[in-house]
Amino acid sequence: MEFHGVLVASPGMGHAVPVLQLGKRLLNHHRLDRVTVFLVTDDVSHSKSLIGKTLTEEDPKFVIRFIQLDVSGQDLSGSLLTKLAEMMRMALPQIRSAIMGLEPQPSVFVVDLLGTEALSVAKELGIMKKHVLVTTSAWFLALTVYMASLDKETLYKHLSSRGALFIPGCNPVKFDRVQDPSNYVRELAESQRIGAEVITADGVFVNTWHGVEPGTIRSFLDPENLGPVMRGVPVHPVGPLVRPAEPDLKHHVLDWLDLQPKESVVYVSFGSGGALTAEQTIELAYGLELTRHRFVWVVRPPAEDDPSASMFVDKTKNQKEPLDFLPYGFLDRTRDIGLVVRIWAPQEEILAHESTGGFVSHCGWNSVLESIVNGVPMIAWPLYSEQKMNAWLVSEELRIAARVNVGDGIVKKEEIIEMVKRVMDEEDGKEMRENVKELKKTAEEALKKTNIPSAYFTQN
Ligand code: UDP
Repeated sequence: MEFHGVLVASPGMGHAVPVLQLGKRLLNHHRLDRVTVFLVTDDVSHSKSLIGKTLTEEDPKFVIRFIQLDVSGQDLSGSLLTKLAEMMRMALPQIRSAIMGLEPQPSVFVVDLLGTEALSVAKELGIMKKHVLVTTSAWFLALTVYMASLDKETLYKHLSSRGALFIPGCNPVKFDRVQDPSNYVRELAESQRIGAEVITADGVFVNTWHGVEPGTIRSFLDPENLGPVMRGVPVHPVGPLVRPAEPDLKHHVLDWLDLQPKESVVYVSFGSGGALTAEQTIELAYGLELTRHRFVWVVRPPAEDDPSASMFVDKTKNQKEPLDFLPYGFLDRTRDIGLVVRIWAPQEEILAHESTGGFVSHCGWNSVLESIVNGVPMIAWPLYSEQKMNAWLVSEELRIAARVNVGDGIVKKEEIIEMVKRVMDEEDGKEMRENVKELKKTAEEALKKTNIPSAYFTQN
């Protein structure tokens, strides 16, 4: 019998990257004979161009297909989580017919956390093993399944007090993770649905490892903590699922980095979706200019009301030129110390470069993991979704990052200068660098060991 695995990723590079990496791992190490990955997107050509930048080799046993959604006329308001969950709901009929068209029919199905509704499609189609991949932390999985287990009264208390949520065996989650409290009830309903669906899977893979989240991972197994909430569904840490840097990649940023001293450059990027306001873009520019540290900055067009605006580019509108929003003369004044890249840069290769010494990051989980596997300390600047939780983890628990203070809605240039100096020059920063290098070793160990039990793919 030929074992065919099908994996489905919700929109966004933050989901596509780990799903593709898991797919490759299943093919190479776990006796699947063929893997098909479906990437759900509202813009195939944009997704293709980004994926093409991250995945170059071809393998006939590893097939990537796109599921194109037409979102025009749809109400996709709300938080990013509700938006993406709605898009995955819209994609269900296409996912169903795409799977039905596969030859041979798959016996293994994996979908990321935002697409758990597709588990019932996989069941209906008789797929033997159904799994969820959590593309973010185990802590976020804990929050999601725990919220689904709470009764109405407890949830109401949490909502009205806006207090922290105490999850058994895990760090408490502050209410301030919520980006927009007015959307919280809707987001909560989606989270609860997802949490309830997760425990209908045969297993849950999480893009994490013991070195990063030991307590939370243990808590899922512990009958005194999250064990009962998981109802026997095994949680398997499979991280870090990151795309390895391509050693021979040619890119002008890498040529520039070749000319800089070791660990001297601060890399600044807010992931695939992050957008700053115009005012914040100017403040960041002045902050970078005044530190006199070398930098590479991936600049996006600003957005005034949605920090995740770069995730969905409205093609019907004229796109703004990001460099037009930089302060007058900035590029000339920083010519000797900085490099500005429009929209997209080869992040893995930049972080793997020995000249890179710090990473100003929005703390998307993939960026966090990529920073760790390359031993680069961070300046945590969370923008949306669960990024505040990730920022807390890297700054307070793992102590591999300094966290910026958002003050009254804007991170001031003085704060940016202070944080960059802290990470790049001060004793505190040295400690963070040592800590992240230690953590990198645990990532390497985890990668050597990760062997997903064969029961995940075969009939017990
Ligand atoms: N990425 C990249 N170049 C960029 C921006 C992002 O290669 O200019 C990649 C990054 O390496 C990571 C992914 O896109 O693998 C972004 O995922 P993350 O979870 O960090 O953030 P998200 O985009 O989901 O907010």
